[in-house]
Amino acid sequence: MANYPIPDQPKGSGQVAYADVQQHPHYYLATSGPGREAAEQSECEHGYALTASCPNCP
Ligand SMILES: [Zn+2]
Repeated sequence: MANYPIPDQPKGSGQVAYADVQQHPHYYLATSGPGREAAEQSECEHGYALTASCPNCP
């Protein structure tokens, strides 16, 4: 199984941006873990949690 890289500077809760998720989807969209928790508590510019599928994000 592949070993996915962790971001150099992982963002904390509420600090994750959509671009971060795009760059490190395996870290921020993992089934569980600190990346997932941080992304869950962060929102895209449309007010959706980054772990949700925002209909307005590309
Ligand atoms: Zn969005």
